Amino acid sequence: MSVLIKGGRVVTAADDYVGDVYVEGERVSLIGESLDVQADKVIDAAGKYVLPGGIDPHTHLDMPFGGTVTIDDVESGQTSAAFGGTTCHVDFIIQPKGQTFAAALDEWKAKANGKQVIDMGYHMAVTDLKEGGTLEELASLPDEGITSYKLFMAYKGALMVDDETLFRTMQVAADTGTLVMVHAENGDAIDVLVKAALAEGKTEPRYHALTRPPETEGEATNRAIQLSRVAGSALYVVHVSCRESVEPIAIAREKGWNVHGETCTQYFFVDYSFLERPDFEGGKYVYTPPPRAKENQDVLWNAVRTDVLSVVSTDHCAFLWDGQKTIGRDDFSKIPNGAPGLENRLQMIHEFGVRAGRISLNRMVELLSTNPAKLFGLYPRKGTIAVGSDADIVVFDPEKKVTISASTHHSKSDYNLFEGTEVTGVPEVVLLRGHVLVEDGELVASPGIGQYVRRAKFGEELKTAAAVA
Ligand SMILES: [Zn+2]
Repeated sequence: MSVLIKGGRVVTAADDYVGDVYVEGERVSLIGESLDVQADKVIDAAGKYVLPGGIDPHTHLDMPFGGTVTIDDVESGQTSAAFGGTTCHVDFIIQPKGQTFAAALDEWKAKANGKQVIDMGYHMAVTDLKEGGTLEELASLPDEGITSYKLFMAYKGALMVDDETLFRTMQVAADTGTLVMVHAENGDAIDVLVKAALAEGKTEPRYHALTRPPETEGEATNRAIQLSRVAGSALYVVHVSCRESVEPIAIAREKGWNVHGETCTQYFFVDYSFLERPDFEGGKYVYTPPPRAKENQDVLWNAVRTDVLSVVSTDHCAFLWDGQKTIGRDDFSKIPNGAPGLENRLQMIHEFGVRAGRISLNRMVELLSTNPAKLFGLYPRKGTIAVGSDADIVVFDPEKKVTISASTHHSKSDYNLFEGTEVTGVPEVVLLRGHVLVEDGELVASPGIGQYVRRAKFGEELKTAAAVA
């Protein structure tokens, strides 16, 4: 199978030109002006953007959490990703307490088996380290293509680890070329505040934010940065939501430390006031860290523009509002934390980042594809359009208008964080390794086409076909 994408505006993190892209098999084999080649399929991309497929390094599909399980499994979650122009993601395996990492990996691979619509890798969320067991096993994960460890500094009594576990994991990471990812909030302080609020009868969704003040995120971010310095590991702070955590990351990067950070689409658009919506509608916006005061949104736009933050992910962790979120109708601490978002990242960042003049088109590609590929051992096989790279390509119509809605999205969730938002710009054709995934608003490929990707170590390249040849 060969595909010729003709006359589109090809945009990577570095380039922006009108040209043809020729795909043979699963990889890009030729790029040029007015290519004279025969192809099985020709896509007229005149007036369209030709972008590398999105890479979302932060998702939770088919994950048990808060006494329930996320509503999107691998098939529905990856289908919504495909419609949104995301062709690869890295999901979190959560080590069940007392289990080996090998057992956890087998369990997560079984959940994905036969259901994969896009390519995927895994991070390992470490919840429990035992000397003479999982502590030693940690070092073997890069051999499985798992080259990032995740630690929760919050969710006391559930996923949270103590500083000893965090620090020991950082020491292993420094030895094995693995990236340490942290959910940075001070879980002990938050636990005190949550219990005090509930004792005073404060049960509405807004108390989710009021018991997790931004200082608890700032403190944990700084603690993780300092500990990673002592251990000598690279650090990646997930879902940065506020000035208090942007500032320590900015200082670390100015000093040239090996510290990286992401924010998520929703933090630019959903603020604290959403949690105050009546009749438990505020429950839709209960995710962690919580929606913050609106002035943080400008801080985040500045941070992604100036490379203080390097990635925009979604933290897609979808639940039903009616039936799952409502578990916590009378107690905010029982509302499952998380929200859908895999499908809308490119549209929202294009509209309010690029079209609003906050970031360039190149920077958008860098934040949504190239930087996640580089940080998570997928580049240059993924994250760019180049000879030898996987033909993960989005033909994007920058003029088409749509209104975002749960009635048309592909997640199984019954609400959308951006309901009613009008955006200009739609992924029109989406290719995964040269196979057409989405065209004319339909999923063309069948589940099973997606593959597990063994990622390279932190700072190393995942070789392309051309480089291997
Ligand atoms: Zn998450």
